[in-house]
Amino acid sequence: MQEFWDTLSENLKKTFQDVEKHRKGDLVKLASIPHLLSFLQEMGPEDLLLLLDQARKIKRRKNPKFPPINSDFYDVQGLLPEEDRKLVTKVREFMLAEVAPIANEYWLKAEFPFQIIGALKKLNIIGLTMDKSVGGQERSYLLEGMIGEEIARTDTSVCTFFGVHSGLAMNSIDMCGSDEQRQKFLPSMITMDKIGAFGLTEPDVGSAASMGLKTSCKRNGDTWTISGQKKWIGNATFADYIIIWAKDEDDHQVKGFIVDRDTPGMTTEKIEDKLSLRTVQNAIITLKDCKVKEERRLQKANSFKDTALVLKKTRVGVAWQAVGCAKGAYENTLAYTMKREQFGRPIAGFQITQDMLAQMLSQITAMQCMVTRLSQLQDLGKLSDEQASLAKIFCTVSCRQITSMSRELMGGNGILISNNVGRFLADAEALYSYEGTKQINSLVVGRAITGMSAFT
Ligand SMILES: Cc1cc2nc3c(=O)[nH]c(=O)nc-3n(C[C@H](O)[C@H](O)[C@H](O)COP(=O)(O)OP(=O)(O)OC[C@H]3O[C@@H](n4cnc5c(N)ncnc54)[C@H](O)[C@@H]3O)c2cc1C
Repeated sequence: MQEFWDTLSENLKKTFQDVEKHRKGDLVKLASIPHLLSFLQEMGPEDLLLLLDQARKIKRRKNPKFPPINSDFYDVQGLLPEEDRKLVTKVREFMLAEVAPIANEYWLKAEFPFQIIGALKKLNIIGLTMDKSVGGQERSYLLEGMIGEEIARTDTSVCTFFGVHSGLAMNSIDMCGSDEQRQKFLPSMITMDKIGAFGLTEPDVGSAASMGLKTSCKRNGDTWTISGQKKWIGNATFADYIIIWAKDEDDHQVKGFIVDRDTPGMTTEKIEDKLSLRTVQNAIITLKDCKVKEERRLQKANSFKDTALVLKKTRVGVAWQAVGCAKGAYENTLAYTMKREQFGRPIAGFQITQDMLAQMLSQITAMQCMVTRLSQLQDLGKLSDEQASLAKIFCTVSCRQITSMSRELMGGNGILISNNVGRFLADAEALYSYEGTKQINSLVVGRAITGMSAFT
């Protein structure tokens, strides 16, 4: 027993020396070693056990063991076949190794990291769901969605570049082009030797694109003349092919054209000073009597209804993108809350913090389950406009809320770009507005569930 008290006395002496080193002199003044020892000796076994229990809890609080961060709480990715899961993991590893270290830098500079295109090409993830006849892989929409999510989880801007090229531009050709056009343009876009852009929105026509574009086209023999302006067109400063949507002066229907960026009469001007998706190169396009051959007109695009078919598909992609953006913010925040200490313990240990984290994770899980079912319906060929719109609404609204809570949980540090949450917060704003704002997508859903159109 004497040996026990001697050891305890020795340990206490050391602790007091440490305390003194850290200038917590008040404690030293309050308790001397003999005083503490006598106090302990007077304690019964039950009190000693209680004290030991408290000491263990304090030790655990000081040296917590954190579980791995997992935002796929319901193992939704487990629904993919093994081969597809491997591809998703490959994409994640690429994003973490090649893009994560430069994402903030390029976002701040508002420049696109062209050097990653070479590595992206090698991943072979463009045209995953397209026909083998055009170089596609005929794989599932579920896989395509999860790959988009994985890209956005590290960098939502890179995912937008990817979505504009492989979603908007390539789907316009795949869904609205003739077989000849699909064979001619898609293979080099699948290998990313040619990059695409999609020009629908105009300075004066955004949500109301279905009601009438100001950009006009007129046919004379086998040549079309296109005039007008387009705004916000992603990738347009460097894309090889820009899909231009214009209203035919003769039949007043919307037509689509595959236009080379260097076509005489067409100029692109980068939009500066964006607060969101700064890495994406958005442009204003001006077309002045731009001549385009009939062979470049998308042969199956006969009205805005055909353009809307493309948008239905890509809205699913934006919903997946919102899941990735929210996950990126949540994961970085969770890691931060485990490191950041206030009141002598990690802020992750506070009840209100855990309540917010649980709310974020539940929303992410709901979004993930929603888009998963959406892509399954797509794979079954049963996807409706309103289903795509509902997911676009829910996921982008939730993404805004989650990225905002992430910022809040980081306190002031949340607004520093280096803490990897501010970028997601800002990027969520563009996801919320593009490919149909919340209001416009609500009108699509509203029309389907009430049978009444409230568009105008
Ligand atoms: C970063 C970024 C990238 C983009 N990339 C592309 C691209 O690559 N290609 C492309 O073609 N476009 C692109 N866009 C354009 C995008 O699709 C439009 O911004 C979007 O469709 C909304 O149009 P708008 O901005 O003109 O807003 P407006 O249509 O002017 O809407 C303003 C507000 O009015 C509301 N509103 C409008 N009509 C109604 C109504 N009937 N009922 C209730 N509310 C209504 C809207 O919901 C919104 O809140 C991009 C936009 C951004 C911000």
